[in-house]
Amino acid sequence: MRFPDGKSLRVERLSRKWARVKLSKLGWVRFRIHRSLGGAVRSVTLRRDGGHWSLSFLVDTGRAEPGVSLARGRIGVDRGVASAVVTSDADAGSGAGFFDRKFITAGESERYVRLQRRLVRARKGSRRRQRIRAAMATIMRRVRRRRADFQAQTARRLVSGNALVVLEDLNVRGMTASAGGTAARPGRMVAQKAGLNRAILDKGWYGLEMSLRNAARTTGARIRKINPAYTSQTCPGCGQVDADSRKSQAEFGCTCCAYTEHADVVGAKNTLAAGHGGYRTWSPPGIGRGREASTRPPGSRRATASAAG
Ligand SMILES: [Zn+2]
Repeated sequence: MRFPDGKSLRVERLSRKWARVKLSKLGWVRFRIHRSLGGAVRSVTLRRDGGHWSLSFLVDTGRAEPGVSLARGRIGVDRGVASAVVTSDADAGSGAGFFDRKFITAGESERYVRLQRRLVRARKGSRRRQRIRAAMATIMRRVRRRRADFQAQTARRLVSGNALVVLEDLNVRGMTASAGGTAARPGRMVAQKAGLNRAILDKGWYGLEMSLRNAARTTGARIRKINPAYTSQTCPGCGQVDADSRKSQAEFGCTCCAYTEHADVVGAKNTLAAGHGGYRTWSPPGIGRGREASTRPPGSRRATASAAG
């Protein structure tokens, strides 16, 4: 539930930990304050997550968005098979550029699967069923919080030092599933995990994109999305496109030249190549020429064509 009219919203601090806000129809709502608001309130959103209620405030910090990033780097980001997020400058040897985090502990996942089984047997509308649901919701909430932390941290790392971050556009991926090389990366949901639902295992690609856009607002970095077709099959060394170059989920070995690399890193490299076609990083006024390529819509055809090379 959103309360948009910021000017009429009154927020009062009650103590170090508690504050209250006056919401239309609801009146005064007391809440635990986790950090200072740091700006004029624009709107308030009231959410319910299981038995927990939360309020989030959209504030105007008065800080203008930087128009252009002073960083010079550019980076491609791939949804990895082994790791959640892999960057174009990743090093399979040292593990740098491979971002992942387990959102659920072994104990929690065991417990969750057990609860799921018990839920099936519990009578509809019973107290027992309510208790089981609440216990499942608690685990889900922890998973969501860890995922949000992971996304925010990863986003900050990706944005820092980079003027351009290129991502796969998953909407495009969905539409071109057969051509998009998804056949070469089967089964993110393996059988052993079948007992856990998708919401728990999801690495949160959309959430990462949101976090990136959020983090980019403070640095001026650009986020661009490209059509991921052939990004897993194209050789960054010679440009040959061949599904057979993808030797396994983790291995890429070009069938044409001798290029070998971790398959996820290849995906990220090709994503970057597709996204920075025509892109210039910032240079002092008067030196650069040509228009900013980012005025084109993200994932445009021209960028895609250079990826398919
Ligand atoms: Zn090659």
